[in-house]
Amino acid sequence: MSPDVVVVGAGAGGLASARALGALGLRVLVLDRQRTPASIAKGEILQPETVRILDSWGVLDALRATGARPVGRLAIRDPDGGPLLCLDYADLPGAYREILCADYGDLRGVLADGLPATVEVRWGRRVTGTLRADDGRVTGVRVAGDGGEQDVPAALVVAADGMSSPLRRAAGVTVERREYPHGLVAFDVAEADVADEVTAYRTGRGLCLVYPLPGGRCRLYVQVTGDEFRGRADLGAWCDRLLADVPAVRPIGAAIRASLHRRQLLAVYRLRTDRLAVPGLALVGEAAHAVHPMAAQGVNSSLGDAETLAASLAAEGGTPAPASVDRALRAFEAARRPRLDHVATVSHNASRMITSVSGLPKLLGVRMMRRTAANPRLLGLTAGNLSGTDVRPLSLVDRLYQLGLLTDRHARVPSPPAPSRSERS
Ligand SMILES: Cc1cc2nc3c(=O)[nH]c(=O)nc-3n(C[C@H](O)[C@H](O)[C@H](O)COP(=O)(O)OP(=O)(O)OC[C@H]3O[C@@H](n4cnc5c(N)ncnc54)[C@H](O)[C@@H]3O)c2cc1C
Repeated sequence: MSPDVVVVGAGAGGLASARALGALGLRVLVLDRQRTPASIAKGEILQPETVRILDSWGVLDALRATGARPVGRLAIRDPDGGPLLCLDYADLPGAYREILCADYGDLRGVLADGLPATVEVRWGRRVTGTLRADDGRVTGVRVAGDGGEQDVPAALVVAADGMSSPLRRAAGVTVERREYPHGLVAFDVAEADVADEVTAYRTGRGLCLVYPLPGGRCRLYVQVTGDEFRGRADLGAWCDRLLADVPAVRPIGAAIRASLHRRQLLAVYRLRTDRLAVPGLALVGEAAHAVHPMAAQGVNSSLGDAETLAASLAAEGGTPAPASVDRALRAFEAARRPRLDHVATVSHNASRMITSVSGLPKLLGVRMMRRTAANPRLLGLTAGNLSGTDVRPLSLVDRLYQLGLLTDRHARVPSPPAPSRSERS
């Protein structure tokens, strides 16, 4: 096939882009360096906006059929399970009011199965660089495969090659990548049927996140310091400490112990590029942006990128003429940048509320959480922003309410901070 578009990367962002661009009738070639898609612990909490997009693409029923777990509430709780801040998605406006918790492999699978006939996916093809015209415009990619290197020209290249994005580097886009001062350890816990809720426990050690997964499993993320798992960590003693720190997870304690050997240790980053597009090339998904995983925004943003990119090309007639493509890329950048910056701010603030373990950031986090919990209007705004279905940035006045520097007469009086068991000890 001689493609109009080459998409580099067959993660959620790449497959969504292929789906949306193929639906315009464009010939799309997707290349991924993996021979078979890897099973990765990420992209599992799918916010209502993602559910809406998947429904509009006709793949939602297929995802539900994989056993994806519907969840109606996001809750921040103390280590004993007492509520600190609950976002009830049933109160969201519109038709999409639940999260789906799915395996990332299943999400990729249903996106790949639902691709239009003009889209081809080739696995085991590593893109090694971009092709350029004399004026610097990106005009295709260079690919390494079984038969050596090959040039693949295309009117548009979509870089969906993940956070380290070799293509972003090759296109000369600069990136600001900041590592959070903590990591996460992830466990896939079998035979642990937990409540239909995404629960973030705010503990003395920071975040402990639990949510259900298909097949009676659950995901557990625990915030860790850099050296906690270095060397020969005593996993049994580590688990004892976790269960002492977070009594609410004791009912699944035995299942957690059984899953300790399947842990994944993850560094956590936030990332922002200075541009989302250069002539001939668009960045989508984690190649362009990453936020703290506890905000569960990555798939929302990746699918939103794909939807907006396709809409921008459609507005230019959906033709692969380079001048139309470049106008569409400018429109894509203008439409996505404010939304992505907003998501980055919301995600960073939400993660700080829970992951800050000392000093002023912790005090501010606790204060903002209590004031938000006591204010139905701020709760509604927060739920709309995290779900992606009702996005309205908080005003300066809202921030002053959250910090307690202004009083909102419609808010309840925040309950006094109750020290949790782990914080008392
Ligand atoms: C621990 C963790 C938990 C998360 N949890 C959530 C969550 O609950 N909800 C949520 O919405 N988001 C979550 N996210 C974010 C979400 O996973 C990402 O936003 C999403 O996976 C981005 O998809 P992507 O397609 O951009 O990248 P990826 O899924 O990383 O896909 C990139 C693809 O590019 C391919 N590739 C790379 N280089 C090349 C090359 N040179 N040639 C060809 N192919 C190449 C790779 O093989 C890969 O398949 C989480 C992230 C992390 C790290």
